[in-house]
Amino acid sequence: MVREILSAMRNEQDFDTLLWTYGIVCKLEMLPGYIYGFTYKSTSSIYHIFINEALCDVKRNETVLHELEHIELGHFEAGFIGIIDIYYEEQADKEAQKIAEETAIYNWEVKIISGGIYK
Ligand SMILES: [Zn+2]
Repeated sequence: MVREILSAMRNEQDFDTLLWTYGIVCKLEMLPGYIYGFTYKSTSSIYHIFINEALCDVKRNETVLHELEHIELGHFEAGFIGIIDIYYEEQADKEAQKIAEETAIYNWEVKIISGGIYK
């Protein structure tokens, strides 16, 4: 799902619209400084990703990737309990890192910003 989203973005598709096709909504919020972002799954099975608006663009994008990996890896179905679960955190980080290396991170940044999700 993450790779599909990134490759669709290379074809000029809108990030918010793409996310929504997977039942995901992503928003910038004012969060405590030690929280980069978090995701919760609503009772109607929509994933809500919140990203700390204080982060720089690079960190915002890394955090979006990390949160998308939690969803893709099925952590919410596996009883993921949030930021204190080190195993899930490391797994999400590892996958996000892999994707960031595989994809043109430059395009990702530019398109996310121009897609307007962070306004
Ligand atoms: Zn996490």
